[in-house]
Amino acid sequence: MLRSLHLKLMLIMLLLITSLMTVVGAFLMTNVTSFYTDAFYSQMKAVFDESNTGFVQSLRMEAAGDDGAARLQTMIEVSAGSLGIDSRTRNYYILDAKSGKCLASSDTRGGDDLRDTANLLAARNGQVGQTRDITANYMDVAIPISGGNNHFIIYILDNRENVNELNSQLFMIILQSLLFGLLIAVLLSFLLSKTMTLPIERLTSSAEHIAAGDFGSRIAVESSDEIGILTTTFNEMSETLQTTINEVKSERNKLDTLFLHMTDGVVAFSRDRSIMQFNPAAEQMLRQKDMSALRYDDLFQPQVDFDYVLALHSPFYEDCEYTVADTTLEVHLTPFSNDTEGGVLAVLHDVTQQRRDQEIRREFVANVSHELRTPLTNVRSYAETLHDASDVPPETANGFLDVIISETDRMAHIVQDLLTLSKFDYGHMEMNMTRFPLSDAVDGVCNAVEMAARNHRHTLVRSYQSLPVIMGDRGRLTQVLMNIVGNAIKYTPDGGRIELRGGTEGEEAWLEVSDNGIGIPAKDRAHVFERFYRVDKARSRESGGTGLGLSIAAEIVAQHSGTLSLVDRDGPGTTFRITLPICQDVQEAPHDETN
Ligand code: ADP
Repeated sequence: MLRSLHLKLMLIMLLLITSLMTVVGAFLMTNVTSFYTDAFYSQMKAVFDESNTGFVQSLRMEAAGDDGAARLQTMIEVSAGSLGIDSRTRNYYILDAKSGKCLASSDTRGGDDLRDTANLLAARNGQVGQTRDITANYMDVAIPISGGNNHFIIYILDNRENVNELNSQLFMIILQSLLFGLLIAVLLSFLLSKTMTLPIERLTSSAEHIAAGDFGSRIAVESSDEIGILTTTFNEMSETLQTTINEVKSERNKLDTLFLHMTDGVVAFSRDRSIMQFNPAAEQMLRQKDMSALRYDDLFQPQVDFDYVLALHSPFYEDCEYTVADTTLEVHLTPFSNDTEGGVLAVLHDVTQQRRDQEIRREFVANVSHELRTPLTNVRSYAETLHDASDVPPETANGFLDVIISETDRMAHIVQDLLTLSKFDYGHMEMNMTRFPLSDAVDGVCNAVEMAARNHRHTLVRSYQSLPVIMGDRGRLTQVLMNIVGNAIKYTPDGGRIELRGGTEGEEAWLEVSDNGIGIPAKDRAHVFERFYRVDKARSRESGGTGLGLSIAAEIVAQHSGTLSLVDRDGPGTTFRITLPICQDVQEAPHDETN
């Protein structure tokens, strides 16, 4: 099959050859005709022109005789060679000028069927008829010859057969040349197209490779012509393209990695509000299994109108909050392009903890204010009474002062606890770490609370033997135990049972403090380690509690890389469990460095 370039080249060459041959042919044929015509009239002029007076005079003299026509014929026959008379294509006729009758001729067919040409008519009017008629298929001259009373016309007529024959031969030669030329054109166009198309084919194949993503192929530059320059430019372009695509790829990889692993969720919505792209964090935050089935309207439309966001211009954006189950998300909505391909980008940030922390902070401030206001109100009212009433009996005044002192102590206690917690919060709490057997600390606490337990008729059971040596701040751990055992005494009705158990489990020492007191309702269990949390506020306050003891205890245990938890068990009462890591390297030679 002919390729288009080959076809085009061939057509161009064929047209070129054909038009060239046509022009040459037409030129040649016109020139041949014109040459032949010129030659005819020159010949005639040379013979019959008035300048050739001798010949024309002789003709007139011969015409004057009785057999003028025959004499004229003889004279013309003599000059037949000069006139080119061949009796085939060119003939002479001697006509009677009056009647137009042919008296003698070289034409074997006679001269009766002669046409009245313009030259012949001119001669009959007595003038020399030698007008050229290019359109006619003949050439003629008619010369009137008068001698005496005889009037003749010598009429030379050429039927142009010679020139026509020559022209048809020329035509045949041109036609043959044309055919030959066309054949050469076909062959030449094939060869030319081959030389021209080969590098183009190579370029095309290389371009196809590039389109398929293979940038490795380079084309050999074999010439310095336009095709060579094009090949060099193509190679350079392919190299630049490869570098650019590699850079873009690397950038995209970086962005993809960022997109995949960023903690904030990202969802891109197209203009038709469907999801174009999302990252795993967004899927996790929105808790959706099939994200691609979702639309903007299913998520954020109630909060922020899609078209409104789309109409925003950078750097403007719109924020809203989106809640899924117990998670609060802050959603940052912005259009990511203004052209028809754009859409809306949603960046999701989990602010659950932030909100919780804000809430805790608010509650904390409210709790601190409340806790301090109650004793302050008491102090102020007792102090005012003492100040205003001068007749207060001394016993009553002493009672008032006792209350003021105890409320001040309570405030000091709260402030002290808050300071302790704040030190933990800011990491400023200094721990006096020493190695000591845990049994010693537990024994110390039991001894310290024995009197208080006895006052409430509680039975204090020590169900532990020797506990391992641990590394810790003995004073702080004693404070923890005192708080837990103190709570057990506080929150157990008189005559209860408080038991301390302990042991070792793997690389940890554990301690449990159980009581059979009022217990902690299931709904409050998760909150007892929160600051200021008290199950029964009135009761706790009555017993001097601040609601900060367990949170401080939990912080201290955490500082020792241990755990403090509430054991989930049936039955009345409460059990707290502490675990602490055992100090491995001194297990064999326990000693108390603080003593
Ligand atoms: P408080 O100073 O009020 O005792 P804590 O932080 O020590 O504060 O305790 C928090 C709350 O946990 C107490 O107010 C109390 O309601 C509850 N609680 C602690 N220990 C016990 C226990 N052994 N039995 C019942 N409730 C307890």
